[in-house]
Amino acid sequence: MSRLGFLWAVALVSVNMARAQAPDIPEPGSVEAISAATTDSHFVSPLVSYIPQAAGVPSPEKFFGRIMGAPGELVGTQKAYAYVRALAAASPRVRVFTIGHSEEGREILMLAIADEAGIRDLDRLKSATAALADPRRTDQAAAEKLIATSRPMYYFNAALHSDETGSAEAVLELAYRLAVSEQPSIRRIREQLVVLINPMSNPDGRDKMVDWFYRYLKGKTDRSSLPRQSPPYWSKYTFVDINRDTHQQTHETTKAVHRMFHEWHPTVVHDLHEGVPLMMTWNGTGPYNPNVDPITYTEFLQLSFREMEAMTAMGMPGVSTWNFGEAFAHLYLDSVAMNHNSIGRGYETFGNGSAETELRAVSPTATSREWYRPMPAPAQVKWSARDNLNYQETGALIALDDAATHAKDMLRNFYKKSWDSWQKGLTQPPYAFLIPQDQGDPERVAQMVGRLMGQQVEVVRAQNTVHLKDGDFPAGTFVVRLDQPYRNYAVDLLTAQNYPKDGEPPYDDVSWELPANYHLQAIATEDASIRDAPLTPLKEPPHAAGHVSGSGGVYLLKDTGQESLLAARYRLANFEIGIADGEFERDGAKFPAGSWILSEQTGLHDAIQSAASELGLDFVQVGTAPRVSVHVAKAPRIGVWVPWADTDSIGWIRYSLDQRKVPYSYLRDEDIRAGDLRSKIDVLLYGHVDLELAEQIEGLPKSWSPMPFKKTSQSPSFGTPAESDDITGGVGYEGLAQIQHFIDDGGLMITLGSGSMLALDGGLVRFVRRSSGGVPRSAAGGGSASAAAALGTTRTPGAHVRVTFDRPDHPIAYGYPQRTWVFRQNFPLYNTPRRWLRMAYCTTCLDGPEDRSGIVMEWGDSEAKSFVVSGQAWGEENLIGRPAILDMPVGQGHVVSFNFNPMHRDMNRGDQRLLWNAILNWQAILALHPKTTPANVAAPEPDE
Ligand SMILES: [Zn+2]
Repeated sequence: MSRLGFLWAVALVSVNMARAQAPDIPEPGSVEAISAATTDSHFVSPLVSYIPQAAGVPSPEKFFGRIMGAPGELVGTQKAYAYVRALAAASPRVRVFTIGHSEEGREILMLAIADEAGIRDLDRLKSATAALADPRRTDQAAAEKLIATSRPMYYFNAALHSDETGSAEAVLELAYRLAVSEQPSIRRIREQLVVLINPMSNPDGRDKMVDWFYRYLKGKTDRSSLPRQSPPYWSKYTFVDINRDTHQQTHETTKAVHRMFHEWHPTVVHDLHEGVPLMMTWNGTGPYNPNVDPITYTEFLQLSFREMEAMTAMGMPGVSTWNFGEAFAHLYLDSVAMNHNSIGRGYETFGNGSAETELRAVSPTATSREWYRPMPAPAQVKWSARDNLNYQETGALIALDDAATHAKDMLRNFYKKSWDSWQKGLTQPPYAFLIPQDQGDPERVAQMVGRLMGQQVEVVRAQNTVHLKDGDFPAGTFVVRLDQPYRNYAVDLLTAQNYPKDGEPPYDDVSWELPANYHLQAIATEDASIRDAPLTPLKEPPHAAGHVSGSGGVYLLKDTGQESLLAARYRLANFEIGIADGEFERDGAKFPAGSWILSEQTGLHDAIQSAASELGLDFVQVGTAPRVSVHVAKAPRIGVWVPWADTDSIGWIRYSLDQRKVPYSYLRDEDIRAGDLRSKIDVLLYGHVDLELAEQIEGLPKSWSPMPFKKTSQSPSFGTPAESDDITGGVGYEGLAQIQHFIDDGGLMITLGSGSMLALDGGLVRFVRRSSGGVPRSAAGGGSASAAAALGTTRTPGAHVRVTFDRPDHPIAYGYPQRTWVFRQNFPLYNTPRRWLRMAYCTTCLDGPEDRSGIVMEWGDSEAKSFVVSGQAWGEENLIGRPAILDMPVGQGHVVSFNFNPMHRDMNRGDQRLLWNAILNWQAILALHPKTTPANVAAPEPDE
């Protein structure tokens, strides 16, 4: 900025400041405290440069004894909630609601702020937005009346990502300011809107982070020598992925926000993040999702430009929009709004991940002047927690001011979007989706229907056979009629995504289609007569009944691809189960390989009855066991290794096993190092991690050691879900040797996604070479145009793509057709295993003949169907024919390596059975002796 421009800005700010404070009297000392905590006068606005005084209402300053965003301090949930309650007790303009409880039992609180009349009328205002959300019961005349007398609700969500520490304090101050300030703009916000604030949306993570800050970061300001910035966990299961949960709603944080949404119907859900200097207001580069109403895209652009314009005019540098994410995928927490006819948006501000002031370099990608960044940040800034807060709160106040100014338009757009969505289902095909019950796994069908219902998508059920142009559908078929307000989201969830091949690099997944995820069919019909069929509304999520039929002491379970077989094995853990090696017939019915045979055992009948009804499985009783070769399938002792360096993706495995009540040992790095694994577990499961090979082995730098994560009086929130005396150092080569012993001694190791690098690149498995052109998932994020160059040539960034079983008789193939599809993110590519011939000059060439015996499944469809089922792929020609699942013998054991992650965020339920098959049939896999390794003879009977 030129010297002249600088002086102009200062003059303008001081004029504004004087004018802006006029009706408010600043609390004594607040101007000075804020100014002292702000590192540059350009990093504050007149809107937040003081704290208004209010008789009888406690300011955060008075309550906490410091301003919000003070250097070196962070507030935890207990104190924040005490403040929120004190504020509500003192002000008739504030109310507090409990909208949920975290996994660790902490409350999730939400404030509602409006003028006195608004607070008195909350119930009426809520029922008005609910009525606007459903145009089937609110005609246009009624809607206009409601719009005239009601208000949009604007919801702020803070502290979702725990090391993004600023937003919790920003919204506490915002709440107070909105409640007491007499600025005309704020009075209008109170009169025109209801502002909803969730200050600690992920309270478990917040408290862990606050403890972490005081234990490891307080007083440290030199960024080049900071220790790890965040605790290893932000929630019971996940880390960053807590923000990738909207379609599946597995976390309490997500459930609370979804419940809130469907009770209040806020017009805007605004999530506060801290990943981009100095402030990025989201609206995505495109391609935009075709199933979101186009009005939304204009609304969120308009709000972003208003923020950028106003803050630039106030002289605040570095405010930008557009160049972040693509807004094709709406799978984040704020997406509950995008997917339900409201506006989902957010900020990325510049967070230090700490409350200390630091000298920060601003990435060169954020310092150029662009149309979307008219006044870029300087290349280096001294940056404080208060600076970060100033940006967040100023932006929020501008957005609220804009919403208050356009309150009626916002409500009208909200109603119009709901109307458009409903009308599309009435007037344009498809008119409905039909989901037949009989698709091999009735319980998985029921679960997919339950997921739709969890999104308030209405599902009905055919009372009789329905005759349509598309065919006959039997009674009991689930039907999603599209003449409903959430038609657009239903279409988005039930049809394949088609991400443009020439689109910007995506930020995250490009496919979330439920039928692709569940390996099920949902049939779109263009036959409008479906609306005349007698259909019964579903009130509760369905559950497949499960039956035990026939008579006799032997029980048969036909393998038709049921996902619940793993859970069933552990419900029946005390019983002997034989799994058929090949197909057999009984009473005219065919039972494929993988079917279960249970001979007469004491107590078996009752156990089977309860497993059948709980898990929706059908058992048949017969007099004698069929004549077919079987293998025993003892329930294995599972160990899940969770490296301290990355707990995120493996958290989803733990979640899925917990949901299925499947027991496992949680193995920390130190447990692996301690060794003797073979005596403790049969199957070692190592999931996907966003770590390069060196980090998978060596973990967090030892230079930070010791770094305990243990519950103490100073760190009461540490130690869950696992504790450690020192989380640094990884498993090290010592631990790697223990893993090698485990496999050599006859253990089965299963690796998923980039976890397979440890086995294949790390040399636990020999003769499988990495191929160029693939990318580890950790290198594949981005979403900005500049990320494109960093990407490899082969990319499947979260897409459903086709695969073929090379060994259709392998136990991993049980329950699947020979050609199917799986979900794949960006992972390294591996070549077909080869023998090693040459010794000189070319010791890494593996130039011997290919050996495909270890390939269980390969990428691509052998009948040449199009590679992509849903989403998009780039450079797939490098992938097709290469291994998707390898089963390689090592010593007395085996390593099964997946080149994808069948446990992706509890989304790809139809892929999970592949992993369950490997676990269920561990002994059979260990007993397989490929002809190419004659030395590897029968596996011993472990731990008998
Ligand atoms: Zn974030």
